[in-house]
Amino acid sequence: MAEAGRQGRTPVGLLQYAAGMDLPQETPRRRLSCWLPTFNQPWEQKPGLGSTYILDALFPSLPLTPNQVEQSYFLLTDDYYLNTDSQVLDAYLEYMVELAYCWEGAGTPTEQEMRPDPGAGDGSGLHHPSSGPEERRGEASTTRITIADLQSCTPRWQTCIGNTDDTMGFALGALFVKETFDRNSKGIAEQMINEIRTAFKESLDQLSWMDPDTREAAKDKADAIYDMIGFPDFILDPKELDDVYDGYEVGEESFFNNMFNFYNFSSRVMSEQLRKRPSRDQWSMTPPTVNAYYMATKNGIVFPAGILQAPFYSHDHPKALNFGGIGVVMGHELTHAFDDQGREYDKEGNMRPWWQNSSLQSFQQRTECMVEQYSRYTVNGEKVNGRQTLGENIADNGGLKAAYNAYRSWVRLNGEEKRLPAVNLTNDQLFFLGFAQVWCSVRTPESAHEGLVTDTHSPPRYRVIGTLSNSQDFAHHFQCPVGSPMNSGSRCEVW
Ligand SMILES: [Zn+2]
Repeated sequence: MAEAGRQGRTPVGLLQYAAGMDLPQETPRRRLSCWLPTFNQPWEQKPGLGSTYILDALFPSLPLTPNQVEQSYFLLTDDYYLNTDSQVLDAYLEYMVELAYCWEGAGTPTEQEMRPDPGAGDGSGLHHPSSGPEERRGEASTTRITIADLQSCTPRWQTCIGNTDDTMGFALGALFVKETFDRNSKGIAEQMINEIRTAFKESLDQLSWMDPDTREAAKDKADAIYDMIGFPDFILDPKELDDVYDGYEVGEESFFNNMFNFYNFSSRVMSEQLRKRPSRDQWSMTPPTVNAYYMATKNGIVFPAGILQAPFYSHDHPKALNFGGIGVVMGHELTHAFDDQGREYDKEGNMRPWWQNSSLQSFQQRTECMVEQYSRYTVNGEKVNGRQTLGENIADNGGLKAAYNAYRSWVRLNGEEKRLPAVNLTNDQLFFLGFAQVWCSVRTPESAHEGLVTDTHSPPRYRVIGTLSNSQDFAHHFQCPVGSPMNSGSRCEVW
């Protein structure tokens, strides 16, 4: 979350990002004051960095009680203060100080109040920055990716589309699906999910470590997983779509105001949902998103229209590529229901134990194998954190296996596909190649380091190598000799 904040996902990060959009690197502070309108909100005089205080300042029109404020994800609670790394707190505090600058200019009472006095201990155990933001910006310039750096890497059109998707993704999604989404895709995707679910359940019978009761409960849970594919229906109804954005003011003149209005608007929408019954059909990703997710508390999986495209899926692709692409993604999301966190929720999405102790112990032994396996991998000399990435690695491995078995079942039912001309690969090999291909990527060393520290997914290279080196089918079809890197003789298998 911390890194996402820097890229504009939280109000604070966003304001800073929005304000810095066109700033020359060397003079950010001065330009900020030229760019931003002056706000003359009366700032309540409160000591310290109270979260209610911050929210009041950000969204003065928002009628929230302090209790509701504490539940807001972007605010510091006491608990967070006391248990968070000092570097993170420093960075957060720096944002807030900059925010105060943005709104009131340097040297105002707000700025002075929010900048903690380094000499004064407050007895609460809170961490304070050891130096001012200006000094720290100077000294950290070699290690920190600045907003200006990010800008130089990201083409403007991507920034613009990203922002439009972040703020009006369902409206954008309506245009996107009308243009690109094949109505048959929904049925085809549903059928594939069922094929992969069946393969997953069949594999449960082969797992010697599971007791019969837990096995049956796992099958029940797999059956109960429901799916949402493509987009929510409301986006194709102009009236309903308008209602969703009712109250959000957008203009052509000011990017800053658009983003500011959006966060004001979305905070109001979020606060209105507090203590209401959760809706099962609510989408957390917009239709153009090239991603998918599993919701443990709903036992549901979601595949936005964006991921139902090449290279993950195409009507014209060989089945081997579709199963290796979107099939593995589907298997991955299904397996999340049974990873180290998802397994704690029952088929209705309630956090409730449903495992026999003996199976739980075996599960933990097997997951420990994966922790050790992935902890051996390194990027630029820096280790992957096998514990931080465990859930995703379980999902990657289970997903690949279920999708491959589903592909073999498809072939048994429908017969072998023709082989692609001019590609000297069997269809089984093509399946694995298609899987590996979706992880082709390139990143800077800084970005790779950031991923190792913050991402719950393994680096793309090891999402491929880690899973394939655990796959007997892969070793068989690529004839990897025993003892070779991809067939080392010791495999980890959970699902
Ligand atoms: Zn995942």
